[in-house]
Amino acid sequence: MNIQVKRTENLKEKPSMDHLGFGNIFTDHMFIMDYTEGNGWHDARIIPYQPLSLDPATMVFHYGQEMFEGLKAYKNPQGDILLFRPEKNAERLNITNNRICMPELPVEDFIDAVKAIVDIDKDWIPEGVGNALYIRPFIIATDPFLGVRPSLTYKFMIILSPVGPYYKEGINPVKIWVEQEYVRAVPGGIGFAKTGGNYAASIKAQANAKSRGYAQVLWLDGIERKYIEEVGTMNVFFKIDGRVITPSLTGSILEGVTRNTVIELLKTWGISVSEERISIDELIEYSRQGLLEEAFGTGTAAVISPVGEFRYKDQVIVVHDGIIGELSQRIYDELTSIQMGKIEDKFGWTVKI
Ligand SMILES: *Cc1c(COP(=O)(O)O)cnc(C)c1O
Repeated sequence: MNIQVKRTENLKEKPSMDHLGFGNIFTDHMFIMDYTEGNGWHDARIIPYQPLSLDPATMVFHYGQEMFEGLKAYKNPQGDILLFRPEKNAERLNITNNRICMPELPVEDFIDAVKAIVDIDKDWIPEGVGNALYIRPFIIATDPFLGVRPSLTYKFMIILSPVGPYYKEGINPVKIWVEQEYVRAVPGGIGFAKTGGNYAASIKAQANAKSRGYAQVLWLDGIERKYIEEVGTMNVFFKIDGRVITPSLTGSILEGVTRNTVIELLKTWGISVSEERISIDELIEYSRQGLLEEAFGTGTAAVISPVGEFRYKDQVIVVHDGIIGELSQRIYDELTSIQMGKIEDKFGWTVKI
């Protein structure tokens, strides 16, 4: 893939890297590539970060044919730039694209594009614990047309944002609302695809939970409303009586790269980990018996997010006295140390730019 580069003439002032939030600051450049039916992907280019100009009839505005990915770049103590398992994001992008009728993007092109844009804006990679450069690749349908069908043209773009730790307070356990009224996804739907439509469906429950004082919602399955699926925008894990359980991938769950990584880590540590269906009633029963030892969410943004409390109807399930568990802490420390290149990566997960 040949990438044309047009550098900006006005470099932005960089923010203080001490108090970075999440996703509110963007770097100097962006990556764009176009797709035209019959011609494939073409005109890969890096240009100054700028607004887009699009026809109001552009299909993505009306029927939501769009997808996104999320990964991070880190600077190791030697100053090298590291990506974490970018091929996993490229593979998942194609799983999403297939579901929502978007053209495939070669894995190598995805990785080359990510490497090129991160390299150009590498001075924006923040150092310090919990800091990283968040990478947001996304694709939108661009035909100006109000009929409903797959678009014949698309734009693939990548923007970058220096981010701090997801939770400003550090990795303290969060309170979770077990959602009963709304569902996020159903079998046969788009739950396993990383597309904006899933988020449009989830915002209301998330906003309600927030107004009740809860950080996220725990999603139950869309049919029986009893099997646990995900926690907010993360996959979820439970440590029960010494073994670890995460919901199996049933088609309505997004397969996280962090989820997969945590499963691999636990296996090498000799800790029993299984993917299975687990209901909210079983979870409550385990808690009652004193067997629910830890609970945490996993995702690129927060890495590990321990859960201190679940609220289901009028029941409150407190986990590990509301403080982070030893296993959650151990996974967080090990994973962030590998990602930031502070310890040896025996798995070959990190990719140097
Ligand atoms: C992105 C995402 C995750 C986490 O995936 P990672 O690859 O670990 O970042 C989990 N659930 C949903 C709904 C997501 O969109």
